[in-house]
Amino acid sequence: MDFHVSDLESQPGGCVPVALTLPVTASLYRMRGTDDGPPRCIALAGDIGGEVLCTIYDRRPGPCRDFAPYAALGIGDEGCARARRRHGMQPLGE
Ligand code: SF4
Repeated sequence: MDFHVSDLESQPGGCVPVALTLPVTASLYRMRGTDDGPPRCIALAGDIGGEVLCTIYDRRPGPCRDFAPYAALGIGDEGCARARRRHGMQPLGE
């Protein structure tokens, strides 16, 4: 998951813990683990397909806040469906 440097806790108004990130460019940062194979964000706890939890939910980057905003209501979007299929799960609502 990549996001703008302004989301980092080291920036005014930012909140993402720097220790959980890697710089990609001067203005772009990435959550550690998302380059791994298979990718897994360092902030993700639990078992995919079972119960998972973002351990920095209140401090997650902007793109995470924008991703599938209605998923908790059982309404996914195309990105959500792709991610679920990648892990052998049905898209939400199917
Ligand atoms: S929501 Fe949390 S666990 Fe998921 S990619 Fe973002 S920071 Fe990582």
